[in-house]
Amino acid sequence: MELSERITQITTGGSDGWETFYRARRMIAKGIDVTELTIGEHDIRTHPDILNAMHVAALGGHTGYAVVPGTQSLRTTIANRIQERTGVRTTANNILVTPGGQAALFAAHHATCDPGDTALYVDPYYVTYPGTIRSVGATPKAIITTPETGFQPTANALDLAAKGAKSLLVNSPNNPTGAVYSDATWAAIAETCKKHDLWLISDEVYDTQIWDGAHISPRALPGMAERTLVIGSMSKSHAMTGSRVGWICAPQDVITHLINLATHTTYGVAGFIQDAAEFALKQGALVEADVAAPFQRRRAISMDILQKQDIVKYVPAQGAMYLMLDIRATGMTGQEFANALLDAEKIAVMPGESFGKAAAGHIRVAMTIDDARYAAALERLIQFATNQVPK
Ligand code: PLP
Repeated sequence: MELSERITQITTGGSDGWETFYRARRMIAKGIDVTELTIGEHDIRTHPDILNAMHVAALGGHTGYAVVPGTQSLRTTIANRIQERTGVRTTANNILVTPGGQAALFAAHHATCDPGDTALYVDPYYVTYPGTIRSVGATPKAIITTPETGFQPTANALDLAAKGAKSLLVNSPNNPTGAVYSDATWAAIAETCKKHDLWLISDEVYDTQIWDGAHISPRALPGMAERTLVIGSMSKSHAMTGSRVGWICAPQDVITHLINLATHTTYGVAGFIQDAAEFALKQGALVEADVAAPFQRRRAISMDILQKQDIVKYVPAQGAMYLMLDIRATGMTGQEFANALLDAEKIAVMPGESFGKAAAGHIRVAMTIDDARYAAALERLIQFATNQVPK
């Protein structure tokens, strides 16, 4: 029996740069003390007050089938938050609650692309992007960025790629590069979408983690609200990665179709999780700043350490919880470096190659362990890189 091409092609197979990650996991399982700087998981857990709200909601009986689009009060809370931040009129009818940002990315592509359509994304990219696009039968097409432009897509590259495409997926603040798109980049993105009649899918799951510059949501740019689907999530902003709760904010007619899709796929998000998400959002921006604070501190620690040497190059992360380090001076690929670093120093990082062509010769470091261990690991990583430079 043959499975569908759509499902068998989600991941294209072969090496995808995740070997180091799985090797690190196996070493940890054997009891080896590995410093884990691979994935974007906080070193704190969900706040007990949020867990208490979840507990109270579950005991209060919110455990039955949930309302598929999301509870009216959570949708309204999300809409208010978006309207306050962007100034764009937003109501509950513009919101679908989803089981996390990933489900929202899938639904957004399902809503905008037919099989065979070209869907654009920016390289380096969050690992699931091409697979998400392939899973709806569309063809992913990368727009390559470079360290020289701070990993921001240029007007020219956007325009060249856009002809005949159906959608454009962007992510600012960016995983893996830490880029926060500038006014000029957003203007070019909006221009391209309007000129080539593209849907814009804007992944804003790191919108509470900005260290330099300001977060702009492209839905607020002139003429963009009717063609933009914004992806949001409680995972990064509230350390709720395991709760699986996020949203799509889009024009009302798009949401109507997305509710139909949700009815036939996820059937919504558990009611007690939705109540906890609503409680968390109602705690306001200070709580979000608390969750983001460790990454801001470690980003500052990183800049201090990195400035003292010139072997490991970097584009300063303007947002998110990662550093993208250029280790090309060692003569190694990101994959070779990550493997050798794991063997020699027991430090696990992601090879840049797992995030696309543009990140070759780089490694991504997740700033997700306590400050002192983090600083020591970064110092060791730099010393290791320095020792690898051909004499
Ligand atoms: N988008 C980006 C850029 C991410 O880095 C992640 C997770 O790491 C997600 C989306 C998915 O997040 P979640 O499904 O936990 O909301």
